Amino acid sequence: VIVVDEQCVRTDVLKEAKRFATPVVATSDKLCLGLRDRTNDACDEIVKDLTGGKEVGALILNPEKVGEVVTRVAMNLSGKREKDKKGPEREEIINEAARCTNCGWCSRHCPNGLPIGDAMKAASVENLEKIAELYELCNGCGRCENDCEREIKVFDLIAKAAQIELKEEKYVVRSGRGPIQDVEIRNVGPPIVLGEIPGVIAFVGCPNYASGYKEVAEMAEEFIKRNYLVAVSGCAAMHIARYKDEEGKTLYEKYPGNFDRGGLPNVGSCVANAHILGAAIKIPNIFARKNLRGNFEEIADYILNRVGAVAFAWGAISQKAYAIATGVNRWGIPVILGPHGSKYRRLFLGRGDKEKEWILNDRRTKRKVKGEPAPEHLVYCAESKEEAIVMAAKLCIRPNDTSRGRQIKLSHYVDLYKRNFGSLPDDLDLFVRTKSDIPITNKEEILEFLDEKGWKEREPPTEPSILDLGE
Ligand code: SF4
Ligand code: SF4
Repeated sequence: VIVVDEQCVRTDVLKEAKRFATPVVATSDKLCLGLRDRTNDACDEIVKDLTGGKEVGALILNPEKVGEVVTRVAMNLSGKREKDKKGPEREEIINEAARCTNCGWCSRHCPNGLPIGDAMKAASVENLEKIAELYELCNGCGRCENDCEREIKVFDLIAKAAQIELKEEKYVVRSGRGPIQDVEIRNVGPPIVLGEIPGVIAFVGCPNYASGYKEVAEMAEEFIKRNYLVAVSGCAAMHIARYKDEEGKTLYEKYPGNFDRGGLPNVGSCVANAHILGAAIKIPNIFARKNLRGNFEEIADYILNRVGAVAFAWGAISQKAYAIATGVNRWGIPVILGPHGSKYRRLFLGRGDKEKEWILNDRRTKRKVKGEPAPEHLVYCAESKEEAIVMAAKLCIRPNDTSRGRQIKLSHYVDLYKRNFGSLPDDLDLFVRTKSDIPITNKEEILEFLDEKGWKEREPPTEPSILDLGE
């Protein structure tokens, strides 16, 4: 039984479900799929109609009734629809693949440019390996099927070819935990604000990845190992669970779920990502006693200047994802999009080289002070995993970092940059305020670099802000 609410639902869900004799239950008046409203009908009647195939689905706007109907229909159908569950058989895949002319039209429309024609060619001579391999890189959008002039059911063939692996696929996902408690914020707030936890990195959102889900898990692990606090939600949280290391362990089995450095808490569903933002909002409330009511500007300013948080929406699909990203931006938190994010255009990109744009107000001394591009951008679309992790380490830098905090953050930024691009970051001088900010491991090399840049020490702000200096 397929149950749909109102988001992330393929528009052809009813058509596809019919092919496999799967009843569909719609539960929201925003997405009724043209189904008959059965909200006021007796459960027995609805169950009978769905089990017997009299109706393809039902609209039920009462959640309790949905629970009862869906469970009973699933139990009734269990075992009865074995024959309907099957996609094409091996022979059919081979025959269908042989109809492919390798015209390349599907690949041109595939968001990931997958080599479908080549895989079909191999499948037509009984080598199904290539077509099965496409499964991990495919996001199931169905554009290929829509655009094939020969009406080949490309996604069906891919899914069927990968079925052996899929059948055996088992993984452990950490269950969604809900909001972060005040007591947890009390533990991690000071090291986050002072910069000693190098950053809070959130992986949220949809699965429109350019190179499969593995990258999300790899990026998450990179930051966990470096003692960042990595929080996840939604599809990203589920996809992380599909990645296993050489010993067959998922990140959830390797790292703890607490909201602390080196932890990997899963806050829950897609929209539960609001709990991660909620944690950032609680920090100024708990530490700086900032009033939560009617105090948006001050709290956003606090987060922007003190809380080194960055979110990844690596596979953002919808306008909803983009709306969430810009909503998070309003609170002073940058978002990194994956390669497909370029469709949203680039927005809120800063210019680190324009010194005047980074002047800060020091609210304690009531003076204007020289600042730094921290964070330089609010929405950044990265073309590769490597570019993204380096950018995330940089975007975690905040004007309020203590020297110790800045040292830690810069050591990760420098290390990641060198590892991925082979040199010191060209803008490093912008983030070194005094010699005490310089990471010990690269001190000599960085001092030499700073000399070449004509770098001069500057005083770190005591209470950095972009709000007015006040009276
Ligand atoms: S569009 Fe159809 S015929 Fe052309 S390469 Fe793709 S699957 Fe083959
Ligand atoms: S369903 Fe998969 S293979 Fe087909 S266009 Fe979408 S991503 Fe590409």
